[in-house]
Amino acid sequence: MLGTEKALGLTERPPRDGPGHRCHAHVPEAADEGPPGRDDVRVGSVRGWQADDLGPAPDDDRDPVAGVQVDGHRDRDEPERDSPGRPHHKSSRGMPHPLRMRPTRPRTRLDEGVTRVASMNRTTPPRPLDVEALFPELAAHRGTTTRLHPRPGRPGVSESSVGGPMLWPADEPWPVCTEVHGRGRGRRLEDVRRRREVLAAAYAREPYEGLTEEELRLVEELEREHLVPGASENDPLPMIGLAQLYARDVPDLPAGPGGADLLQVFWCPFDAHRPTGYSTLLHLRWRRAAEVADVLTSPPRPEVVGYEGYVPEPCALHPEQVVTYPFAGLLPEDLCARIDAWEEALEEEAEEQEDEADPVAYQYDLSIPPGWRAGGYASWHKTDPYPMDCPTCATPMTLLLTVDTSEWDGGTGSWTPLEDQGLHPHPAAVPTGVVVGNHGELNVFTCPADPGHPPRWSVQ
Ligand SMILES: [Zn+2]
Ligand SMILES: [Zn+2]
Repeated sequence: MLGTEKALGLTERPPRDGPGHRCHAHVPEAADEGPPGRDDVRVGSVRGWQADDLGPAPDDDRDPVAGVQVDGHRDRDEPERDSPGRPHHKSSRGMPHPLRMRPTRPRTRLDEGVTRVASMNRTTPPRPLDVEALFPELAAHRGTTTRLHPRPGRPGVSESSVGGPMLWPADEPWPVCTEVHGRGRGRRLEDVRRRREVLAAAYAREPYEGLTEEELRLVEELEREHLVPGASENDPLPMIGLAQLYARDVPDLPAGPGGADLLQVFWCPFDAHRPTGYSTLLHLRWRRAAEVADVLTSPPRPEVVGYEGYVPEPCALHPEQVVTYPFAGLLPEDLCARIDAWEEALEEEAEEQEDEADPVAYQYDLSIPPGWRAGGYASWHKTDPYPMDCPTCATPMTLLLTVDTSEWDGGTGSWTPLEDQGLHPHPAAVPTGVVVGNHGELNVFTCPADPGHPPRWSVQ
């Protein structure tokens, strides 16, 4: 019942002729496409669905440092999303080609018996090769992004966190969703968390043999939906605090408006918003942390959630700045084509040698890291690039934040931090419990001309 086998496909790299591989890719007319059927949401195998719309703020769209936007979709009936983590059947990739790759592979260090000590830091291994040595023009496109590396913890209001307590003024209304949608039926937050504990305990057993009868019964009980008596379709619904980022902790966090140094991100726990009726609703709040005197200690919570992936586990962050390069389809056409040809040659070579390991790839190993991060470049692997211009002033927007379902997976294992190598992917690679789209990522964009302009977002 855990559905892990069904989720296997999610870890595979998509075929080269799928979205995300083409140079100067076709821009989909995304906004008026309808929600996908089940077969349309396979990662990379079929064109995904993406939409973007300008939704109203749920509470106060006149606030210059707040804004909301609508996007995102998930197939509500999709069974595999409920699996406890994405198995990593490609997690042990082979050594890269000795002539092309730099020899540094972090696993070597661990294999040599270096004692791993508890560390507050997370360290991205060196990339398997120096991509700028192969494609010197990439130097002009080099950027940085800050991997947030959320890990279970007990963050306080004065710390950056995912799923931790917000530095929220006691006298300021908590963000609520007022869009009309069902909110009287769903899972209880405590049930969602308890179920995760049960599954994590089962996964921790060696050898893993699944759940006991007793655990199965408990999990079934915890998966039950509950009704909220008297709930109407437009009751103000408390949003869930998803993350807060202090600028001092996150070097690549784009500047906030008016000297704001704290970004707080909320979302409604239902897949029920415009434009599709299945979209995610975010609410962003920038503030100056020093102005918060009395902190709200017991924020309101929704009684039930429409989907457990909206419930983040409290995680402390271990920010790490790394080098990043743009999504291939957004590079100059000639450069993209040469990267494509290089990858094809590597793949052919691997096929000839019947090497089951994936060869190094620009998209998966060299350009954009997986996991939660701030700043840098957005990946468009599911839909192909889509114009992301400011709805207020038409300036092309920049990536503010990526909310990712997993910190690494079978396709992106080379980014697994040194400190996490060898850990069981569940729960190590899915520390937040957050699930976006079809085990994908949510990219939130901000206006570089005026960060007070409303954000936009896209699900990949
Ligand atoms: Zn809502
Ligand atoms: Zn703007």
